[in-house]
Amino acid sequence: MERRTFVKKAGINTLGLGLISSTTKSSLDYLEKLSEAFDYQDSILPSFFIGHGNPMNGIEDNVFSNEWKRLGQSVQKPKLILCISAHWLTKGTYITAMDKPKTIHDFGNFPSELSEVQYPVPGAPQQAQAIIDMIESPTIHADHEWGLDHGSWTVIRQMFPKADIPVLQLSISYHESGAYHYELGQKLKELRKRGVLIIGSGNVVHNLRKVGFPKDISAEEGMTREYGYDWAIEANELVKEKILSGDHKPLLDYTKLGEAVNLAVPTPDHYYPLLYALGTQDGEEEISIFNDNYVAGSLSMTSIQIG
Ligand code: ZN
Repeated sequence: MERRTFVKKAGINTLGLGLISSTTKSSLDYLEKLSEAFDYQDSILPSFFIGHGNPMNGIEDNVFSNEWKRLGQSVQKPKLILCISAHWLTKGTYITAMDKPKTIHDFGNFPSELSEVQYPVPGAPQQAQAIIDMIESPTIHADHEWGLDHGSWTVIRQMFPKADIPVLQLSISYHESGAYHYELGQKLKELRKRGVLIIGSGNVVHNLRKVGFPKDISAEEGMTREYGYDWAIEANELVKEKILSGDHKPLLDYTKLGEAVNLAVPTPDHYYPLLYALGTQDGEEEISIFNDNYVAGSLSMTSIQIG
């Protein structure tokens, strides 16, 4: 589980990962190892924050999943996907490092059609270890137990239905600060130049205790019907404004953004994946917003593409 200590001395400034430059043998070994794990690409992949919402989006054809499908067809095929899902909360940061990540059905009371879905992508143990090695701080631990939870597979299977791209998940160390998650996203950003598609999967506005539907609309229909409470819209618009103006700092300490944001983000599990995605933004790289809708009053599906 422990990362290799030599990495603390090794450097690879070309990756911009904040490591110390060095010409020791260990750094040469490290460079070689990293290059074996990740080839340089001619182009840089975008990264995403996806509002995943209802798990049924993983099997339904609807306004949200259709957009995920379109994205999968519009991006250059990644060599690897790295997903930070709202549904893997840990103490310390972990990365899946098994050969074959299992499909986790971490929800209840959904049709068997959903709980029988398998998304049998390969893992990428070598690349997981390379990521562990190249992040000096915080320590990332290898995980052999998790797999792909529904925050990850419901989105990725709609984007890439062939299940032929290896997927890694990175956990959310739940009691760390917003800055921790954002800065870790920054450290991952150079992987975008090495064929890695980084996806944060959560929701900006996510208050399940306050879910509600317009009159005469069933819960099922309500999960795709536009409907947002005033405070949900206020919070989402504020967060979007900060994202679009590149003003990330206030987003890290989101509890200071006012009452609406505190109602929208009662717990940070679905919000932190956004900070990872924003951390991968390179300078003034373009951001586009999609699936910018409200459902069930207290959920926003707002998603962003960076680059
Ligand atoms: Zn969720």
